[in-house]
Amino acid sequence: MYLRNTTLAEELRDALASLATTHRRRSPKTLSGAPGARALIDGVLRVNFASNNYLGLAEDPRVRRAAAQAARRWGGGATASRLMGGTLALHRELEAEIADLKRRPAALVFPSGYHANTGMIPALAGPDDTIVLDRLAHASLVDGARLSRARLKVFRHNDPEDLDRVLARTAGPGRRWVITESVFSMDGDRAPLVDLVAAAERRGARTYVDEAHGTGVWGPAGSGWINALGLAGRVDVAMGTLSKAFAAQGGFVCGSKELIDWGVNRARAFIYSTALAPAAAAAALAAVRIARSEPARRDRLFVLARRLRAGLGVPGEGPIVPFRVGTDEAAVALAQRLWDRGLFAPAVRPPTVPKGTARVRFSLTAAHTEADVDDAVTAVRESL
Ligand SMILES: *Cc1c(COP(=O)(O)O)cnc(C)c1O
Repeated sequence: MYLRNTTLAEELRDALASLATTHRRRSPKTLSGAPGARALIDGVLRVNFASNNYLGLAEDPRVRRAAAQAARRWGGGATASRLMGGTLALHRELEAEIADLKRRPAALVFPSGYHANTGMIPALAGPDDTIVLDRLAHASLVDGARLSRARLKVFRHNDPEDLDRVLARTAGPGRRWVITESVFSMDGDRAPLVDLVAAAERRGARTYVDEAHGTGVWGPAGSGWINALGLAGRVDVAMGTLSKAFAAQGGFVCGSKELIDWGVNRARAFIYSTALAPAAAAAALAAVRIARSEPARRDRLFVLARRLRAGLGVPGEGPIVPFRVGTDEAAVALAQRLWDRGLFAPAVRPPTVPKGTARVRFSLTAAHTEADVDDAVTAVRESL
């Protein structure tokens, strides 16, 4: 109830207190060094299982040098939006490198992956259209879909038959879009894209696939799960981020030259936000090149992932290893016990994941050691 005689701070204090009683109140830990496989977190050294630094590039001296040199040459910020004088030669070079990696005609870089999704989706779908999302799609995809004011529907997670049913029931004059992730951020599972894309094609729908966690990790030279399946030419929009495996900052979409030109003209998050900072763009460019030319990083990552999955009994493949415990309280308690033993693996709770699926999420990097993985397994076993 809103009482006009309480201040905003008092009202929020009550709301925060009620989050706390349901184990949903969250607050960030603070790192005082590079977010590597080991990091100084809230003043203590911890093995870091919380980053998306899959290839171990966060601390790479070549990436750091590229960022430092770009800051010296171009300054701290781009100082304007892309269309108003903020497009640097560096952005063009980065876009060409990404398009080449993804084997698509063109790419467009945004200040973040969140900008890419919330900019591009409303540029492509409007109130007359229908967007069909995987039920577990990332918040930035949901927000982009809401901003578009299209009709929203969901299909069961990674279920092409359900997608087909939902598409069959959505007739109408408008366009239809199918939106999903290639590798899911909280479960680490991969989408059955061959069948999802086939269902979309059969029903005359277009496809938008978020490769935030696929890029750099999966596919030839880290080009992503879409490319691993040979679908590059059949997915209308492939989105990705420079902030995860590439350990920099920024997001992108790739596709036809016309798609990119349309984004430049219509994606509000591209048009009305300052261009990606030079240091971030240069770090991303260096990281993409290293990721492409050093496949051993991916091999190592998958070796460690197999070891952790076997130890914890978590099926599947790849570096995102969710250890489900069920209740929010149990997830928080397990994360705290791991923390006390020198490991940082965060509890992930609703609304980030569905109710009843709270988990401790381990995210591996090529910079972890076998001993780190074994410590995690022992710590979980002894904490349960
Ligand atoms: C992290 C993430 C994003 C957003 O990317 P940022 O560059 O961090 O803004 C988008 N989609 C998915 C699936 C993600 O995991």
